[in-house]
Amino acid sequence: MKIEEIRADFPILGRLVHNKPLVYFDNAATTQKPQVVIDALVAYYSNLNSNVHRGVHYLSQQATEAFEAVREKVKVFVNARYSHEIIYTRGCTESINLVAAAWGRANILSGDEILISAMEHHSNIVPWQMLCEEKGAKLTVCPIIEDGSLDMKALAELMNSRTRLLAVTHISNALGTINPVREITRMAHEKGIVVLIDGAQALSHMKVDVQDIGCDFYAFSAHKVYGPMGIGGLYGREELLNSMPPYQGGGEMIKSVTFEKTAYNELPFKFEAGTPNVADVLGFGAAIDYINGIGIENIAAIEHELLLYANEKFSRDPLIRIIGNAPEKASLISFMIDKIHPYDAGTIIDRFGVAVRTGTHCAQPLMDSLGIPGTIRASFAFYNTKEEIDKLMEAILKVEALFL
Ligand code: PMP
Repeated sequence: MKIEEIRADFPILGRLVHNKPLVYFDNAATTQKPQVVIDALVAYYSNLNSNVHRGVHYLSQQATEAFEAVREKVKVFVNARYSHEIIYTRGCTESINLVAAAWGRANILSGDEILISAMEHHSNIVPWQMLCEEKGAKLTVCPIIEDGSLDMKALAELMNSRTRLLAVTHISNALGTINPVREITRMAHEKGIVVLIDGAQALSHMKVDVQDIGCDFYAFSAHKVYGPMGIGGLYGREELLNSMPPYQGGGEMIKSVTFEKTAYNELPFKFEAGTPNVADVLGFGAAIDYINGIGIENIAAIEHELLLYANEKFSRDPLIRIIGNAPEKASLISFMIDKIHPYDAGTIIDRFGVAVRTGTHCAQPLMDSLGIPGTIRASFAFYNTKEEIDKLMEAILKVEALFL
């Protein structure tokens, strides 16, 4: 497939910013949406809008069918064993909060330890901090080594008899590091530790296979995989999900209710209280179909080439310092331009129509440990081009000329 054809699928890529063609390099924050995803939202509200799992009427049944068909699609996409192991949530953040609230409250006791890594996003730190505070448990943090990889030796040492849960990201949104989640899961399971993987950054870049990884929970957001905002999911192993109390109470998650006692619904509905976000689920389904049409391996190959190209360009500029050089990296580059504050650099780069992210990337403890105020982050998707990287480089040279 030609790059022009791919780009034509994404209407926003045709717009101007500051009178220049948009160069969108903030894909780690959220990806752009192909027309098929936008159309799915319009089609739902135009033709199908009705509540799911409730009505015998035609529309409700059609909407329910479409809604459940996407669950099956997600199941195949991440290779879960059963579709009821996929819980719809608002996104990765809510998925992690669900595990902290439901599994955590039932399983974490005073003196227990929850192990995370130094490269976690705030959404894989704060829910565990809150749980630890409530339970009198301890949060322990695995450091990273110089190149931005996890310190595997330290990780092994930190897994002890008090560790109940390991929560670690698949891909770091701030460094690009791809963690060896399969090996990490195996190490943790040998010690009876439950494993949650934050997959927010992974689904769009690589084939994710939760059975192969072997993890207990895997959290993700649709908007980072070309789908709509406000929808995502949690994969959980059936046995664990069955053993957990519900997350929220309300309609949909019950089998029967009396004032004396409520019987909870079966999986996955036990964890899906209230009217769900049907339209965005259908949009997520359209995004998965779209990705499958291009092929995740093709996407990974294009993105890898963009990463190599940008790396090569950046390494020729002695003023650029790349933060995070792990051998296994996703298609994003976090960097600093000499001593220039990332915010100042980002403001100038924006004037070129180039959207990069600047700041701590919701990983403030990581930036503190690196002793930097933040970075500039360019994150690439398969619809980006080498010419766009050249434009970023042009903008960087302008920043250098202005500030140095
Ligand atoms: N984890 C990582 C690694 C992320 O990059 C993000 C989003 N920046 C999240 C979690 C949270 O995802 P969301 O805001 O979609 O819930």
